Amino acid sequence: MSEGRGGYHGCPLLVEETCSKLEASFSRFSLYNLFPVWRGIWPSSSSSGGWAEVWERCMRWDSAAVVRGVGPIWLVLCRESRATLSQVCERSRGAIRLSSQHTTLPALFDIHQVPKVVQEDGIMSGYRDPCSTALNCVLSSFQIHNETINIWTHFLPTWYFVWRLAVLCSSLDFSADPYTWPLLVYMLLICLYPFASSCAHTFSAMSTQTYHICFFFDYGSLSLYSFGCAISYSYYVMPEPWVNSRLQSCFVPLALLNSVFCTSLSCYSRFVELWAPQRSKVMRTAAFVVPFIFDTTPLIYRILLCYGGGCAHPQAVSNHSYHLLFALLTCFLFTSHLPERLAPGRFDYIGHSHQLFHVCAVVGTHFQMEAVVEDMFSRRSWLTDQGVAPSFLGTIGALLIGLLLNLFIIGLFCVPLLWKCQTHAQPGHKQTQ
Ligand SMILES: [Zn+2]
Repeated sequence: MSEGRGGYHGCPLLVEETCSKLEASFSRFSLYNLFPVWRGIWPSSSSSGGWAEVWERCMRWDSAAVVRGVGPIWLVLCRESRATLSQVCERSRGAIRLSSQHTTLPALFDIHQVPKVVQEDGIMSGYRDPCSTALNCVLSSFQIHNETINIWTHFLPTWYFVWRLAVLCSSLDFSADPYTWPLLVYMLLICLYPFASSCAHTFSAMSTQTYHICFFFDYGSLSLYSFGCAISYSYYVMPEPWVNSRLQSCFVPLALLNSVFCTSLSCYSRFVELWAPQRSKVMRTAAFVVPFIFDTTPLIYRILLCYGGGCAHPQAVSNHSYHLLFALLTCFLFTSHLPERLAPGRFDYIGHSHQLFHVCAVVGTHFQMEAVVEDMFSRRSWLTDQGVAPSFLGTIGALLIGLLLNLFIIGLFCVPLLWKCQTHAQPGHKQTQ
């Protein structure tokens, strides 16, 4: 093999880590062992078979094993010492590349083969190539890996909520009836957050920078969803004693501040993650728990009134209670990392906490949506008699302001990452990750 022949280029991190792993495991094997390495890396068309002859003693690429759509599988055949293997790795470094042209399903990696930033507690395998193309990311949603169920558990519910919005559109006059505007805002946001999450889980494997940016948008959409809950609660769910109170008049502006706090803190927590993972987790949890407590305080008070027999419209209370139950379960799964923490590697593909977290979040949102719709219809005449009239600024206007503020915050956090990306792309820059 002549290095560089066939126009190979490197993905240095992966080559580096694969070699390190290979060298580390070498001592556990006797001579004449066969080591599969760089599984799934596709050579360029001009490279077929050429280098196997030169590296015959130590490294061999069996071209007969290459079946388009399945392979190729690169193999190292070691007959000599660990030093020879190290030499093979050294010589091959920079002479291979991950293909960005083929359209087969991409290979998967173990935890030690991907950058630290994408590693998850207790998830030992099933990681996608962290240098994936957008096309491979889309294709990978049809392949089983540790993000597949995360993608689908939010992609399918998106269309369920869109369908529910379409049904409401056919029975309500959203354009002319201001009373329905809080519901419209809420419904738009429960369609947005699972869709943004699904996209984040799909495209997060393109690069380290993209990984962060995808989850900035995920957090921003969750923050807006929380803001949408506050808008709908402010107009439809508020307990009777608090209707027309000072709290109700301040509820939406305070929720907007909460949204700014939530997006800022959750995005910032990603920068802290590498050097202080525990602190990052606490920050991110706090970012979402604070708005949740604020939003649900009136609801909890109303539920307590209703269970005490002191509320006039108890129809939606059971659905509100189910929602709270699932919200608590969601929070528990997010913070505990159970069950994979108890059995690392057992739940890599199916059943890990993030998947359960997605499912609980969606089921909780379903009960919440039913409760909000129920309250909107059942309390309409009473709320109208109390003079509660949603304004454009307090509903759709607030949503637009919240959207712009969140986009601005996300943009601010994206700048250093995009700048770093550009710096790395400059000629002569030495890639370190
Ligand atoms: Zn998620």
